[in-house]
Amino acid sequence: MKMIRASDARSWLHCQRRVWFDNNPPAGFELFLINEFDQILIDRGNFLEWNIKRKLENQYQLVEAVSEEHTKELMGAGVQIIYQGRISKNGVVGRPDFLIRHESGEYQAADAKLSRNEEKAEIQIQFGVYRILLNSSLPSLVYLGNGEVTEIGDEANREASKYLTSMKNILAGSIRPLVRYSESKCNACGYNELCKPRFEEQRELTLLYGIDSRMAPGLEIHGIDTIEKLANVNPDNIPDIPYLKGREKKQRAVYQAKSYLDGNIYPLKSIDIPDGTWIHFDVETNPITDSGEEHVYLWGFLKPGNIFDYVWTDSEADDRKGWDLFLAKIEEYKNLYPNLIIAHFSNYERQKIKAYAERYEMVVHPTVSWLLGDDSPLFDLFKLVTDSLVLPLASYGLKSICKHPKLVNFQWADEDSGSQWSIVQFLKYLAAVRPDDKERLKLNILTYNFDDVMASRKLEEWLRAMTIAA
Ligand code: SF4
Repeated sequence: MKMIRASDARSWLHCQRRVWFDNNPPAGFELFLINEFDQILIDRGNFLEWNIKRKLENQYQLVEAVSEEHTKELMGAGVQIIYQGRISKNGVVGRPDFLIRHESGEYQAADAKLSRNEEKAEIQIQFGVYRILLNSSLPSLVYLGNGEVTEIGDEANREASKYLTSMKNILAGSIRPLVRYSESKCNACGYNELCKPRFEEQRELTLLYGIDSRMAPGLEIHGIDTIEKLANVNPDNIPDIPYLKGREKKQRAVYQAKSYLDGNIYPLKSIDIPDGTWIHFDVETNPITDSGEEHVYLWGFLKPGNIFDYVWTDSEADDRKGWDLFLAKIEEYKNLYPNLIIAHFSNYERQKIKAYAERYEMVVHPTVSWLLGDDSPLFDLFKLVTDSLVLPLASYGLKSICKHPKLVNFQWADEDSGSQWSIVQFLKYLAAVRPDDKERLKLNILTYNFDDVMASRKLEEWLRAMTIAA
């Protein structure tokens, strides 16, 4: 019998087919190795667990369990803390980092989690399952990455029960469960090469940008069950369905299907590019910090004449200094270029400015008010693209749009670079001891950021060329 593991909650939340594959490894298929970013998280998680173990064993009797039988014996003997105990019941298994004996004699499960709060669904489910396995009324304990210890009690029961029922059904199945494609989830999943070709053969609607698992069933009910059928339907003949209401949305869906099939660009409306002096802007951040606050370590700009400019901080200790230097740069540009446009791609940069203004209680600072106010010079190119055009893409990320040979056709110097890649480079930079190693890593990141803002510039130029051609 296949056992349901409490630790499978993460995979289950990601995709039911993924958790099925995890438990029914496809013959001859090798799951990709853990990437550098994931490995860093695993190492940090192990380090956190090791630190907590050290603290606990200094104060209490702590014994490591080697099997489920041994765990039972240790519990029977009333050991204060059992490390890596194994508990199971009715085909469900759990392996909490710690089983802590309460004064009542019952045991509480406890795990170390890098997360800063216990609200994540996967944590709630895993800890809820521990409580079911222990048949305990006591809450499970979470040792969080910020040093806090929080409790998970009855509030997790519903999700934990739902998880167990669903997992029972999934594991009882002899074939992979039917699921929908999701570009963001499937792209990040090791089983993509097993799944995607089948979705493509079936012309699955969710391969299209903007059509997701909530929308596709509504289209299928009306006989629109392939990309071809969607491409050939008159948008006015598509009835209102959940998440696809209004002509504009329906027209976009139909164009997206056409674009998937013929590779053409479909205009939705005229491309409205504001006049002014354009500076392109992109930040690099490190979310893995001691404080738990995201650290923007690089505020990068591409000035007129394609001159790269930036604010860099060596560590989180200089976070405030970096923010002040960023504001000073904005002031400098504002004075130099009266009709300034600060172009960025997606809402992320604006969110970071807002978060920093709140962090340092500077929401009413004149430069911040200007950046975030009604006359903001910030201009989101992602919004311009998605409002104006339908492109032959499954994802409208800056890289997807810019790298496409029939679109912007701009290539990054380092093929492997990306947001997770840059975090890994910065963590290596922090850990590097030799000055030349530090310099090399910093240069890699600066090159990547330069490419990002240059890609944004090329996108601007490509859009301008399209307006002239139209
Ligand atoms: S590739 Fe997509 S559908 Fe397949 S298991 Fe992964 S997430 Fe699920």
